[in-house]
Amino acid sequence: MRLPPFNYTGPDTLEQALDLLAGHGPDAKILAGGTDLLVRMKKGLLAPKMLISLKALKDLAYIKKDKDVIRIGARTPLADIIASDLVQKEAAALATACQRVGAATIQHFRGTIGGNILQDNRCFHYNQSAFHRSGRQACHKDGGKICYARDESDRCNSTCQSDGAAALMALDARLVLASKGNERTVALTDFYTTDGIQPFAMEPHELLKEIIIPASGGASAYHRLAYRSAIDYPIVCAGVLLKADAGKTDTIGEARIVVGAMARSPLFLAKESAELKGKTFTDTEAFHKAGNGAMNSASTFAVHNVGATLEYRCAMVSEMVVRALNDAARAIQA
Ligand SMILES: Cc1cc2nc3c(=O)[nH]c(=O)nc-3n(C[C@H](O)[C@H](O)[C@H](O)COP(=O)(O)OP(=O)(O)OC[C@H]3O[C@@H](n4cnc5c(N)ncnc54)[C@H](O)[C@@H]3O)c2cc1C
Ligand code: SF4
Repeated sequence: MRLPPFNYTGPDTLEQALDLLAGHGPDAKILAGGTDLLVRMKKGLLAPKMLISLKALKDLAYIKKDKDVIRIGARTPLADIIASDLVQKEAAALATACQRVGAATIQHFRGTIGGNILQDNRCFHYNQSAFHRSGRQACHKDGGKICYARDESDRCNSTCQSDGAAALMALDARLVLASKGNERTVALTDFYTTDGIQPFAMEPHELLKEIIIPASGGASAYHRLAYRSAIDYPIVCAGVLLKADAGKTDTIGEARIVVGAMARSPLFLAKESAELKGKTFTDTEAFHKAGNGAMNSASTFAVHNVGATLEYRCAMVSEMVVRALNDAARAIQA
């Protein structure tokens, strides 16, 4: 598999990058580590005319505490997040999630957190070579009118398998999107469309600049299941955040449960999260109830398109949620 022809440019400043994006529009793609983008280009899934590299934009790689938030530059390598004392202490779910991504080579040499969030949704009917796909009718994402993963579906149901996004949604993160002369901040929970062809609610001329995580004062945890402990994407994962009640330190004041790799976006489960308020950190029965609720809610979105049977992935949602809740509860009591 060879890369299609493309032009390459490496701006020295953010302003130059935004000018280039504004000028080229949908013909251009940002190149961060390239571990998602270049693989898709090699498979003939996209052929941007221009790649705008973030390599020289060292200013976009940072992790810092700023009053009551943690700010992470979009070009920050996954390895820096894994090694960060600040992230380990105040956003443990993210450190764990980054540690699970792909393999050490992706975490340490190439992969960035921005690219991790913005990696394309996946589906085993689509993420194949051009030769493989040429043997059957095109699906929605390939320009056709059918979906192999869900009968009669009018849209693409490809799955978001980003470890980082599931953890960040549990942490209630926000994204800063920059474009020429403009900047906006959007909650990660509001960042997704309902179509896997273009899963992100962002414009082609926008660049992800920064991720903002509220310093919660609580404890977070992340668990995921994959075929192998390395190289493989998650087939189901869960990120949770628990905060203590202001008056009673043994009681949950706020919970956030997010299930990933089950739908077009990570799923924030508001009902199951709210039901944990007022329970103690040792109430394992409540954790199992939340796990079962999460399983039922997430199962309605899932399709069989990312490996393992759908039944197995659905059944394991509960287990991932319970494990993450137990870890976060232990951490907050320590
Ligand atoms: C073998 C293998 C295993 C993998 N396993 C996992 C896994 O287990 N979990 C997981 O989450 N991922 C996995 N990945 C996917 C990918 O490697 C990681 O998500 C990685 O963090 C992507 O980062 P990157 O910088 O290389 O992204 P890139 O490939 O450079 O970019 C990905 C997408 O985001 C866009 N983009 C990147 N940065 C910006 C920005 N700042 N603004 C606007 N657009 C931007 C690019 O245009 C592109 O469309 C795997 C990949 C491979 C090849
Ligand atoms: S979910 Fe359906 S439309 Fe989307 S890539 Fe898979 S088969 Fe194609």
